[in-house]
Amino acid sequence: RFGELNVVTVDVRVAPDARILPLGFGLDDALFLHDGQITKREIRAVTLSALAPRRGELLWDIGAGSGSIAIEWMLSHPSMRAIAIERNAARIARIRENAARFGIPSLRIVEGAAPGACEGLQMPDAIFIGGGGSRDGIVDFALEALRPGGRLVANAVTLEMEAMLLGLHGRLGGRLTRISIASAEPVGTMSGWRPAMPVTQWAWVK
Ligand code: SAH
Repeated sequence: RFGELNVVTVDVRVAPDARILPLGFGLDDALFLHDGQITKREIRAVTLSALAPRRGELLWDIGAGSGSIAIEWMLSHPSMRAIAIERNAARIARIRENAARFGIPSLRIVEGAAPGACEGLQMPDAIFIGGGGSRDGIVDFALEALRPGGRLVANAVTLEMEAMLLGLHGRLGGRLTRISIASAEPVGTMSGWRPAMPVTQWAWVK
């Protein structure tokens, strides 16, 4: 037998300035402070899908920019952990502010250039490379650092980074995807498709 249950009805009001966040991936870019260097909404949704967060896992977001990838990873479940690695000081400040605005103080932020800045960090279950991957030995470091069975996802907009991903795909397999997005925008008094730069994505399981 259970004891008496006291049912308390609480009248919940939504503050007029509350930010109502949908539960799916691919939050509106405008929810993040950014300087234009942000993985756009649709690309971000596909990227999180490829990163495939599972309960309690740790993500390294290398070249975190605004932190949007790490933040959506963290928002997917309260148990999630992420480290945002970024070398640009203004962007580091923005990542901190974004994490505060989304209410996730446990996001770890590392200021410095990868791969050096990644040294000594806890072994990740997933790694996202959003910038700098074509130079600096970042990809080699990430391939090594990832736990066996973990996922690595890298996005390329430059030809140099794309060439690198084509090489990795040839050598290691995985999934290579090209994502092109166009959005309707005004053209004079009418509308037309404004294409964004295509993104080549390589996703690999170690
Ligand atoms: N995914 C991010 C956007 C990344 S833009 C978002 O959604 O906001 C690429 C970022 O990589 C830039 O902020 C750049 O400063 C950073 N970057 C480039 N090379 C780097 C390196 N070697 N170490 C750390 N950050 C680097």
